[in-house]
Amino acid sequence: MAGETKTHEGGCRCGAVRYRVAGKHTYSGICHCDNCRRATGGASVPWFGADPKTFSVTDGKIKEYESSPGIWRGFCGNCGSPLTFRGEGWNDVAITIASLDDPNAITPESNVFLSERLHWVKFNEDMRNYDGFPS
Ligand SMILES: [Zn+2]
Ligand SMILES: [Zn+2]
Repeated sequence: MAGETKTHEGGCRCGAVRYRVAGKHTYSGICHCDNCRRATGGASVPWFGADPKTFSVTDGKIKEYESSPGIWRGFCGNCGSPLTFRGEGWNDVAITIASLDDPNAITPESNVFLSERLHWVKFNEDMRNYDGFPS
């Protein structure tokens, strides 16, 4: 649930990059957009948000590229694991739930960009669901 106070740790596949989130996450949701799909190779991508003040890279370095104007996607420069997403004017940094050491620790509460969902991807109708991004 959003709002719980907990320290989350995670990292990339090869172990070169490790991070910690010391504090509550701000949101959680599964993104079905085409950009996330291409950036990760996944049919949809579960993300959670955190206050950048609570997020720290504890080992290695996150490499970033500007995937859209003002939007940076972060990944491990060695193994390529997608790790973060941040944007100009965004308060939160988004982090891939799947890169957590315990990906079950955060349950996605919403689906976003369902308008771009692949037809064979099933989703939970009972979550908060949005065709695009909630404002
Ligand atoms: Zn790596
Ligand atoms: Zn997306």
